[in-house]
Amino acid sequence: MNLDFSPDELAFRDEARAWLAANVPAEPLPSMDTADGFVAHQQWERRLADARWSVVSWPEEFGGRGASLVKWVIFEEEYYRAGAPGRVSQNGIFLLAPIIFDHGTTDQQQRWLPSMATGETIWAQAWSEPEAGSDLASLRSTATAVKGGWLLNGQKTWSSRAAYAHQGFGLFRSDPSAERHRGLTYFCFPLDADGVTVRPIAQLDGEAGFAELFFDDVFVPDADVLGEPGDGWRVAMSTAGNERGLSLRSPGRFCATADRLLDLYASVLEPVERTSTATRVVDAWLRAEAYRLYTWGTVTQLAGGGDIGAAGSVNKVWWSELDVALHETALDLLGAEAEVASTWTDGYLFSLSGPIYAGTNEIQRNIVAERILGLPREVRA
Ligand SMILES: Cc1cc2nc3c(=O)[nH]c(=O)nc-3n(C[C@H](O)[C@H](O)[C@H](O)COP(=O)(O)OP(=O)(O)OC[C@H]3O[C@@H](n4cnc5c(N)ncnc54)[C@H](O)[C@@H]3O)c2cc1C
Repeated sequence: MNLDFSPDELAFRDEARAWLAANVPAEPLPSMDTADGFVAHQQWERRLADARWSVVSWPEEFGGRGASLVKWVIFEEEYYRAGAPGRVSQNGIFLLAPIIFDHGTTDQQQRWLPSMATGETIWAQAWSEPEAGSDLASLRSTATAVKGGWLLNGQKTWSSRAAYAHQGFGLFRSDPSAERHRGLTYFCFPLDADGVTVRPIAQLDGEAGFAELFFDDVFVPDADVLGEPGDGWRVAMSTAGNERGLSLRSPGRFCATADRLLDLYASVLEPVERTSTATRVVDAWLRAEAYRLYTWGTVTQLAGGGDIGAAGSVNKVWWSELDVALHETALDLLGAEAEVASTWTDGYLFSLSGPIYAGTNEIQRNIVAERILGLPREVRA
C-alpha cells in the first residue's frame, strides 16, 4: 500500500488546515447536550457548511465537494488535530445520510440532505427500545398501515440529542405475523409531530444527552418510508456497518487525543518519574497509530469496491477500548488533579460509553467470533 498523498490530496489537506486554523473557535463550545451548546454547535455546523467543509464526500448538489474517501479521512485528521468541535449533526450525516443516498428516493434526498448538511435540521437515531438494545430485532414499536401512510405507536429510548433534535429515524414492526427480522419498516419523522412525546434522560454528567420517545398514533406519510415497507432490517443494517466501521469514529480524533496525551506526559511528570509511566503512554499512542494505519487499509479496500462487512466490529472494539485507555492513562498522569473538571475528565466519562453504544463490545466480539473466525454460533434460548 502506498501511503503517500497525491499533489491534489496534499493541496486539499493544506486548504483544510488553513481554513480550520483560521476558523476553529479559540474556546471549546459548551456541551452539545445543553440547550445553549446545541445551538452553538448548530452555528458551527453552519459555518462549516458555508465553506463547504461540512460534508466533504457528498455530491456538490447537496452541499459537499464530491471528495474521495481518502480526502474525507484527511479532512477528519485535520479537523481533530485543529481541536474543532464535535459534530452535533453526526447521527444524520454519518448514520442516516449513507442510507438516504443508497435507499432514499430523489424526493427524500432533496428534502432531507441539504438542511442536514447545514446543521439546520439535526437528526436523532431512534432504534433502541427498553427491551430491544443488543437484540434489536425484538423491537415492539408498531407501524399500522392507514390511507396514505402509517400510524406509529410504542416507545424508543437512549436517543442521543433527541431532547433538542428536530427529526428522528427508526425501525417499527409493520407486519407482526412476519419472522422477526422481516416485517420491519424504516421511518423518518419530525420529533414535534402530533402524538410524539420527547422525555429527556440525564447522562452521567447530568446533561440531557438522551431522550425517550413515546409514539401515540403518530401519522407518517408513505413518502417518509426509507426503502420498501417490510425491508427495514436490511436497510438499517447498512447503517450499522457505517456506525461501527469507519464513519462515526474516524482515527483523527484518537490520534489527536494521543498527541495531547504526549503533551500531558511531558508537562506533568518529572524526568525521573517518567520511565514508569512511559510504557502506558507509548502503548496508547501506538494503538491510535495502529488504528490510523488499519483505516488506510480499510479505505483502500473500499476504494477498490470492497465492503467492510463484519470487520466493522473489529474497528468498533478497537476504537472504543482505545478511547478508554487514552483517557484512563491521562487521568493517572494527572493524579489528584484528575478530580478537577477538565476536557480529560469529560472525555473519560464519554469514553466509558464507547463499549456500549453502536452495539456493545460483547455483541461485536460475538460477530467477530462467528463471522470472521468461524467459531460455533452462540447457543440461543
Ligand atoms: C452514549 C450512548 C449513546 C446512545 N445513543 C443511541 C441513539 O442515539 N439511538 C439509539 O437508538 N440507541 C442509542 N444508544 C443505546 C445503545 O445502542 C444500547 O445501549 C446498546 O445497543 C445496548 O443495548 P441495551 O442498553 O438494551 O443493553 P442490553 O442489550 O440489555 O445488554 C446488556 C448487557 O448484556 C450484554 N449482552 C446482551 N446480549 C448478549 C449476548 N447475546 N452475548 C453476550 N453479551 C450480551 C450486552 O453486551 C451488555 O453488556 C446509546 C447508548 C449510549 C451508551
